[in-house]
Amino acid sequence: MKDIDRIPEPVINLFKDVSRIAGYLWNKEWAERNAGNISIDISEYFGPGELQAGSGFFPFSLPEEAANLTLFVTGTGCYLRSLIDNIEEAACIIRINPDASGYHIIWGGHSENFKPTSELITHVAIHCFNKIHRTSYKAVLHTHPLELIVLSHHSLFRDEEKFNHSLWKMCPEIRVFVPKGIFCAPYSLTGSEELADVTINGLTKRDVILWEKHGALATGENIEKAFDYLDVANKGAKMLLMAWSAGFEPTGLTLQEMKDLEKFI
Ligand SMILES: [Zn+2]
Repeated sequence: MKDIDRIPEPVINLFKDVSRIAGYLWNKEWAERNAGNISIDISEYFGPGELQAGSGFFPFSLPEEAANLTLFVTGTGCYLRSLIDNIEEAACIIRINPDASGYHIIWGGHSENFKPTSELITHVAIHCFNKIHRTSYKAVLHTHPLELIVLSHHSLFRDEEKFNHSLWKMCPEIRVFVPKGIFCAPYSLTGSEELADVTINGLTKRDVILWEKHGALATGENIEKAFDYLDVANKGAKMLLMAWSAGFEPTGLTLQEMKDLEKFI
């Protein structure tokens, strides 16, 4: 029996979605080299003890709420563009053990020295947060959206309200589809617990987390919806930069025009 034959069909369909979105990320130049990572909570598709035979155990200190989570997760150092054709090399499924002291890799990770993403601690923290606060949110996407990163170098980044207003005013879609806006997370080292804490704090009030001078992260019901938050937010940043490049300050939607859009939110 091949490895893939052991995977439930809904999960195989999720793999197809991940491959498709990875193609979008590559085409947008948001996923250079090993940039970005993805995880999806697929616990609902696996019973206790399932798929554990023969898998290695990797000690890793995790919050106790993470016990028994089963996650699809991309690998550290792996290229997201590899998800398009070789998902079993660039990603794996992990099952966190009952006391959250580590995990088993129960599928995938078929590349040399494979390990889950270096941002695992942030991804796990978000899935634990989602399990309590928005149970339908299953996917987490971190990538490097060009124009949002450029704007994180601008002084606007220091004033989150003004930053969000500047993007919302660019066109109705931004106001409607990123209604809670963007959280401006000050620079911190990738993979750190500090970054995980700041990100969770940001998700209590915003749709998108912008990591200063690094990239952005969103969570959604599925990988496409997480991508949509980043895509629409980045469109606002791109339009703002285009206006500035053309040498003018955009007029922007008026406060009344933005208020009128609230019925679509
Ligand atoms: Zn990154």
